[in-house]
Amino acid sequence: MDDLSVKTGKRVVVLGAGSAGTMMVNKLRTRLPDEWQVVAVDRDNAHMYQPGFLFIPVGKYKPSRVVHSRKKYLLPGIDFVEAAVEKVVTAENKVYLSSGQAIEYDYLLIATGTQIRPDLTEGMADGALWFKKVFEFYTYEGSVALRRALEEFEGGKVVVHVTDMPIKCPVAPLELSFLIDDYFRKKRIRHKVDLTYVTPLDGAFSKPVASRELGNLLDDRAIRLRPDFAIDRIDNETQELVGYDGTRIPFDLCITTPLNTGQDYVFASDIGDESGFIPVDKHTLQSTDAPNVFAIGDATNLPTSKAGAVAHFSSEKLIENMVGLMLEGKQPAERFDGHANCFVESGRGQALLLDFNYDTQPLTGTYPLAHVGPMKLLGRSRLNHMGKLAFEKMYWGLLMRNRKNPLPADMQIAGKKWEE
Ligand SMILES: Cc1cc2nc3c(=O)[nH]c(=O)nc-3n(C[C@H](O)[C@H](O)[C@H](O)COP(=O)(O)OP(=O)(O)OC[C@H]3O[C@@H](n4cnc5c(N)ncnc54)[C@H](O)[C@@H]3O)c2cc1C
Repeated sequence: MDDLSVKTGKRVVVLGAGSAGTMMVNKLRTRLPDEWQVVAVDRDNAHMYQPGFLFIPVGKYKPSRVVHSRKKYLLPGIDFVEAAVEKVVTAENKVYLSSGQAIEYDYLLIATGTQIRPDLTEGMADGALWFKKVFEFYTYEGSVALRRALEEFEGGKVVVHVTDMPIKCPVAPLELSFLIDDYFRKKRIRHKVDLTYVTPLDGAFSKPVASRELGNLLDDRAIRLRPDFAIDRIDNETQELVGYDGTRIPFDLCITTPLNTGQDYVFASDIGDESGFIPVDKHTLQSTDAPNVFAIGDATNLPTSKAGAVAHFSSEKLIENMVGLMLEGKQPAERFDGHANCFVESGRGQALLLDFNYDTQPLTGTYPLAHVGPMKLLGRSRLNHMGKLAFEKMYWGLLMRNRKNPLPADMQIAGKKWEE
């Protein structure tokens, strides 16, 4: 890495080299002339394939499978700085790092994702049951610890719980419920397990048609749905989730999804909202506060799912907006439509596929080609499950390698069925 203490030419700095940051920094390096310095900052060199956190607990993935070297996926000509961001001061165009270094930028892209905050719910991270009977699976450590707990589990009340929205990959806790249903069946103890899905939403999911389909699927699997549950605390003595209204939900094993917020440094900077997310124009991804700052992925306040697919689709628009502004002074004009799609693992070797954007909720039909598919939207199929598994190869082999992806960035309406 060059000495970054003095800025001699034009410099763009990308914070975070996870899904969105890696895609964007590679695109920037490819599109910008050599005199532009392209810098990527991340706190470590371990790039995790987070959808794999679902498969580790149920023994389908070895933990080591999800971890790759970040540097391996960064194109030559990118300066990688391994340090934690401590603060961004947009008035100075500077990023302050844990190493004591301050990096000045002409343009900044924020792609530092979310973090889980189990410490913000009483009795969760500070309780005696944390990582003994109360687990999470949104981190590497959490999913590995849950794997051991499931191996040892012999029956009782299992609660899969969501603390509050937004969370990244909002279908992941549902998927985990379906996968552990399968897991307990294979272990031949399903009849000894009372499985409940507890959510603050008024149904299984936030979008009406998808919520109905996913709710039916929970029913089908004899997984009880407990909607509208606003957690106040976990009572570690009685092993119960306690709601604000005093309702109590007992458990022998609780798999929670803690509050998701932006990263700590955002709270210490002048760039975030009260949840630590970066306010951006929802179509151009330009910061609403500083015109030379953009944000992408889970770190933003975009009103769509926090998902890798969103990072990918929006990157196709963002690169045009950034490069146009940086090289020609053009105002950002490419509009991201909020397109998200998620393969929802439904167990028994099948998955559902959801496809939606800011304006259109998930509908039935086919994907990616109208009437042809081959994937079925909102219906369970083996092919959808194969699609979910194949995505891992596409992630490392295409998206993180800056290779052209054939899927269109905008949501396609043709071939979808509307219902009242
Ligand atoms: C269990 C699970 C299942 C999922 N399944 C799917 C799925 O099936 N499909 C899908 O599309 N999405 C899925 N996701 C969501 C997907 O992984 C994320 O939406 C995606 O990774 C977001 O990309 P990002 O770049 O915004 O954030 P990340 O990929 O999380 O990258 C953020 C980066 O910022 C770095 N960083 C953070 N803070 C700092 C700091 N202070 N200093 C320096 N670096 C920092 C981190 O180290 C990290 O590398 C899943 C997520 C989970 C947890």
